[in-house]
Amino acid sequence: MFGPALVAALLASAVVAWGMPAPPSPPPDPIGSIFGPDTALAPGTKFEGSEDKEIIRRIIRRHINEVKWCYEQELSKKPDLAGRIMVQFTVAASGQVIASVLQNSTMGNARVESCTVEAVRRWQFPKPLGGGIVIISYPFVLTPAEATKLVLGTNGAGAVEIETFEPTLFVHRSTDADAVPSNGLVAVTARGLLLVDTAWTDAQTEAVLAWGDRRFHRPWIGAVITHDHADRAGGLAALERRRIPVSALDLTVAKMTRRGVRGVTTLFLARDGALKDPRGFEAFYPGSGHASDNIVLRFPGLVYGGCLVKSMAATDLGFTGDADLASWPVAIGNVRARYSDAAIVPGHGPVDLSGEAYQHTIDLLATANGGRSAKK
Ligand SMILES: [Zn+2]
Repeated sequence: MFGPALVAALLASAVVAWGMPAPPSPPPDPIGSIFGPDTALAPGTKFEGSEDKEIIRRIIRRHINEVKWCYEQELSKKPDLAGRIMVQFTVAASGQVIASVLQNSTMGNARVESCTVEAVRRWQFPKPLGGGIVIISYPFVLTPAEATKLVLGTNGAGAVEIETFEPTLFVHRSTDADAVPSNGLVAVTARGLLLVDTAWTDAQTEAVLAWGDRRFHRPWIGAVITHDHADRAGGLAALERRRIPVSALDLTVAKMTRRGVRGVTTLFLARDGALKDPRGFEAFYPGSGHASDNIVLRFPGLVYGGCLVKSMAATDLGFTGDADLASWPVAIGNVRARYSDAAIVPGHGPVDLSGEAYQHTIDLLATANGGRSAKK
């Protein structure tokens, strides 16, 4: 009795905070050099009804060219400009934006930041339901439209490219002989460069490492493998050649040892669940899914889901020879519960800024599991 009454009283008070964990529905709008607006819950914000989310998305999409303009003015001067600008704005009972401030930014460009904050201040929203004030935190992710091509490949096979997520986080994407693309990550940390998963092959992995050398003039301080499959660890020899320390979950190290791969050390234990790494990320073992040893890594603003998470472009679960279809949805739920506020890099396919990739994976699993139970 006390509980519900208290909640009602809070909602009726002057400030109602909407948040938005899940931005534009997939596939993301083709909005040029803006890779797609991402959204996140500011700490402590609450969330009232899905219609509200939809309204905010719609208004932001309608005005996204204004933010794009702010970015492109500066992009023309600095071709590798990229980052995430988190704007917090307040919508009054009239629907007018009465305050808009920069909450945080990885852009490092005051002109783009202030231009974006000013643009948001001009926007008109519908009157919030219930007549309250609404506070929204919205991260605009702005990256150059073109990925840097490191290796062109033939007919799409064997290529390697780098996609900028923000100035310190890059997705490396390589394709195998069948032109199947696979994602990994490069993180620029205070200590040096970190590789998350190799490309398909040694040569492709070396292309990524050489790109990092040229671009940052920093040492490669380590690599993390997110499970023991060829799309994660196929280029290990390139790391070994450069004596880059490689670590992985204890279960992954055990699998590798069984197939004769040595030299990969234990990052953390599955039974410990998670590890905060001083290199600037958290590693999390959510349980079996795509593989019994799949882990996810979380960097500020970004969840590297690896093969546990399917991209919005995926129409099936891909390779499931090593999967646990029954516990996979639970593992996804564990990741979603832990990291609801970030963009997602799946093991294959486009980066997801809609926040819907977890649900999409669960839906694909439901289809697969439903199909299985229908058979029996
Ligand atoms: Zn895999």
